[in-house]
Amino acid sequence: MIDIQQVKPSIFSLEYLTLEAWLKDNKEPKFRAGQIFDWLYKKRVTSFEDMTNLSKDLRDKLSNDFNLTTLKTLTKQESKDGTIKFLFELQDGYSIETVVMRHEYGNSVCVTTQVGCRIGCTFCASTLGGLKRNLEAGEIVAQVLEAQRALDGVNERVSSVVVMGIGEPFDNYDPLVSFLKTINSEKGLNIGARHITVSTSGIIPKIYDFANEKLQINFAISLHAPTTEIRTSLMPINKAYTLENLMDAVRYYIDKTGRRITFEYGLFGGVNDQAEHAELLAKLIKGIKCHVNLIPVNDVVERNFVRTPREQIFKFEKILKANGVNVTIRREQGHDIDAACGQLRAKERKEETRG
Ligand code: SF4
Repeated sequence: MIDIQQVKPSIFSLEYLTLEAWLKDNKEPKFRAGQIFDWLYKKRVTSFEDMTNLSKDLRDKLSNDFNLTTLKTLTKQESKDGTIKFLFELQDGYSIETVVMRHEYGNSVCVTTQVGCRIGCTFCASTLGGLKRNLEAGEIVAQVLEAQRALDGVNERVSSVVVMGIGEPFDNYDPLVSFLKTINSEKGLNIGARHITVSTSGIIPKIYDFANEKLQINFAISLHAPTTEIRTSLMPINKAYTLENLMDAVRYYIDKTGRRITFEYGLFGGVNDQAEHAELLAKLIKGIKCHVNLIPVNDVVERNFVRTPREQIFKFEKILKANGVNVTIRREQGHDIDAACGQLRAKERKEETRG
């Protein structure tokens, strides 16, 4: 495998101001940044040579310092409901997944932030082989661009982005924030902040940092349990960052941003899906400006988890509603392909995902 440090960085890792600084260092005028961003994000070229309003000298400099293509499509699965799932190979040979979900109200892309993950949630296939490496910002941006290229063919656009693929985004914090700024920027992909969602398993110090970034994006916490005991059994991160401290961080985030947050709650048959759990959950989040997203979790063969029956899902929802909780059940997509986090990579790349 190639050492990623030996490979040129992705041009998509450069925020607009960083590109301006690079141009200045290379004795080029600042306005070239606008032209380059236009080629990258509006015209979506695949070669520096195609940037025809730049001098040959500047194109050469760009090509000496940066990579423009960092993702190679290994497989592209399309579901009957329109969901598209990509398996990309990175320059060092690792692979990542990206999913495009098609809705009546728009197209949403779910991106990956790390190769593997070290958080160790017991229900998650992505963590089986541990963390291999962080993605650079440009490798995350490129996933959205590839999704957009797939949609260009049907004249549609990426309307929202969810950072819920493989990896813990807050374990790769600076590239994550850089990625968010570029896709949100008018000069970049111009995806509105309110159409971008980041989800974390709960790295508390980063929740405080994120609150202070003043980004108006949607923020979600993977909660999955109403008690310390159950959460620790599902998510070992709960030992380092307790439920009580997590709720304090969430309150801080809401105070600071004025935004409602979402709690993701995966329902695991017999583990956290009983009536008593719904009551405890309502108590835990009482008074917090939030929304609960119930996720009927697919069976994870490697981890012996089973789906919650439909009637139990509705019962759980009803109890939350009766307690005044704002709640929805996530619609499932891509059932006929491997659309759950980490499933495609786990199947195609067994050597990377073995624990
Ligand atoms: S659910 Fe997310 S944070 Fe937890 S192990 Fe999987 S990828 Fe990591």
